[in-house]
Amino acid sequence: MFLRELSSPVTVLKGAGALAASNLARLGITNLSALLCHYPRDWEDRSRTVPLKDWETSQVCTEVQIVAKDWFGYGRMKTLKIYVEDESARACLVCFNRPFLERQFPVGMRARLFGQFSYRYGEIQSSSFELESIESFQGSILPVYPLTAGLTQGLLRKLIRQAISLYTPKLEDELPPSVINRDGLLGKSDAVRAIHFPASQEELDGARKALIYEELFYLEVMVAQRSLQRKTNSHGLRAAPQSEDLSSLQKRLLERLPFALTPGQRSAILEINRDMDSPFPMARLLQGDVGSGKTLVSFLAALKAVEAGGQAALMAPTELLARQHAENAARLLEPLGIRIAFLTGNLKNSGRANLLKALSSGEIDMIAGTHALFSRDVEYKNLRLVTVDEQHRFGVLQRQAIMAKGRLPSLLMMSATPIPRSLALTVFGDLDVSVIADLPPGRKAIKTHLAKESNEGKVYDFVRRELAAGHQAYFVYPLIEGGDVNELKDAVSMADTLAKEVFPDFPLALLHSRVDDEEKRKTMEAFRRGEIKILAATSVVEVGVDVLNATCMVIEHAERFGLSALHQLRGRVGRGEDQSYCFLVYSDNLNEDGKKRLKVMLENSSGFVIAEEDLKLRGPGQIAGVEQSGYLRLSIADPVRDAEALARARSDAFEILELDPTLEKPQNRRIAEILERCPPFSDVGL
Ligand code: ADP
Ligand code: MG
Repeated sequence: MFLRELSSPVTVLKGAGALAASNLARLGITNLSALLCHYPRDWEDRSRTVPLKDWETSQVCTEVQIVAKDWFGYGRMKTLKIYVEDESARACLVCFNRPFLERQFPVGMRARLFGQFSYRYGEIQSSSFELESIESFQGSILPVYPLTAGLTQGLLRKLIRQAISLYTPKLEDELPPSVINRDGLLGKSDAVRAIHFPASQEELDGARKALIYEELFYLEVMVAQRSLQRKTNSHGLRAAPQSEDLSSLQKRLLERLPFALTPGQRSAILEINRDMDSPFPMARLLQGDVGSGKTLVSFLAALKAVEAGGQAALMAPTELLARQHAENAARLLEPLGIRIAFLTGNLKNSGRANLLKALSSGEIDMIAGTHALFSRDVEYKNLRLVTVDEQHRFGVLQRQAIMAKGRLPSLLMMSATPIPRSLALTVFGDLDVSVIADLPPGRKAIKTHLAKESNEGKVYDFVRRELAAGHQAYFVYPLIEGGDVNELKDAVSMADTLAKEVFPDFPLALLHSRVDDEEKRKTMEAFRRGEIKILAATSVVEVGVDVLNATCMVIEHAERFGLSALHQLRGRVGRGEDQSYCFLVYSDNLNEDGKKRLKVMLENSSGFVIAEEDLKLRGPGQIAGVEQSGYLRLSIADPVRDAEALARARSDAFEILELDPTLEKPQNRRIAEILERCPPFSDVGL
């Protein structure tokens, strides 16, 4: 909200002293603009009278007379009671921590009463009520604000009402007039007034609509700016001829593989090739369910970068996964003459120094690693492609930090967790998207079974038969150790039990985040080679791990895991041609939430459907990523709930910026001005 006077401190208002100011500051409200942006969390409709005698049917809303007062308790516990009456009944107001009401409401005074009552000690009582003098009664639909200690609804209403009458008439519209007219939106000054003190429900709806749209519009203007910036930054670079085919190194890799690309993989890599041939750096999101073969696509993309004389970096969220990528890359790409390296935060001293030197002198073509790939001291000779695997929570600023390592490198983000539409339009709103909708042929659907904890013996018997047939199994637990305290099974003690009592004939190893890295590596290698048959683990195996011979995934205390973790874990099996199984073992005392999640897992196999169900169960506003996105914080809009408005705001924003990228046209100057004063990015560390 931009008006010079609004940057004044709240103390310019009558009734806002130093104490109120410091209380408001704890809510982040330091000036008038922030005060007006402190939107109600709810509104109470007090237009309908509910007399005291009807306290059981709903909140009471009536006019009363103060008839008596009393005190009870002693010392600091001394509490005021006010007795009130309307035409229908008499009631008692218990004023915990509100001794000041004694002076404000003398006996005989008439007042508006609003509150929740119950029948206690022989009287109709309330301790959560509001009492207002008739003169200060503020209309029929009242705002209910988020509060903090020391603030009351009454004070906030009073201050905000004052600020509104003094300043909002001067507010100018912040949305383009064309949009306001097209959608019949309330103007800014009406919208701000009505969001706090609406004259009717319709006016409130109108205010919400206008303010939500405005917030989303500016969000999308920023998204559009980023998207266009990427393209204009590279001004002057010339387009190479676009190819509709794979490059020669890419073809050579495919010739060495025992299988052909799936149609989805093929179209994804062709899109990537096209992007990488264009003069603008690529920024693409590759979505494909677990097991759809994204890694191979990222290797093909790396080949493209290397063929163009550059380097490629592949970043994974865990060391385990990064190492697996490095090993696969070594196996598949080294024979083509590509020089591969692996970097994590654990590499120290001379090893690290040598590696960094090789990287900055261009002796390394492709490097896989964790986020250590982008530590401050890491330099690349010519970084052309950055691939980020399985980190859909990656914010804009983190992306920026990474991109700064090269001269306009291309970016490929890969995710198996489908990104809800709202995120796709906000956090990833500046990316192009490829989808691999198919799985490699010959995969059999994983059979999922639910089992009560007390039936786990049957699950173990089943797994034993699979092991005897030469297959491998994962057992996953919600804790590393110390489960006995919470009556949970944990990985450490279950590894012991499984090895000694349940599967004494099969080699087993333990894997969790605190296992030493060298040992982790050895364990994974032995598991991959089939020397270890059983992995007892925590969710470290959640993302990316790829061992084709593993056919059983047993998740104990499955109700403790979120849906996307369960889907990822289940995706560790069913990667080869053999029939695979997932057992979700749940505690005997399963709660409703857990029950719903397990049911979703039982009934669905598509990650896209599961992600949607997840969103439904968790409710809107719960999506990770929007907040970390680095875009301005939303205060009234919810990209999930307001998805439709978001889509429209997006097309408005892109249309305006495409026609006028620098916002210089007279009708767009105001947008530029507002953006300038918006702190566009909150700080997000890598
Ligand atoms: P995700 O998309 O989950 O990262 P991966 O890249 O780990 O999947 O691939 C899963 C498995 O599928 C790997 O073992 C990989 O070698 C195999 N794979 C990838 N592409 C194909 C294909 N076109 N045909 C058959 N198997 C494939
Ligand atoms: Mg993967």
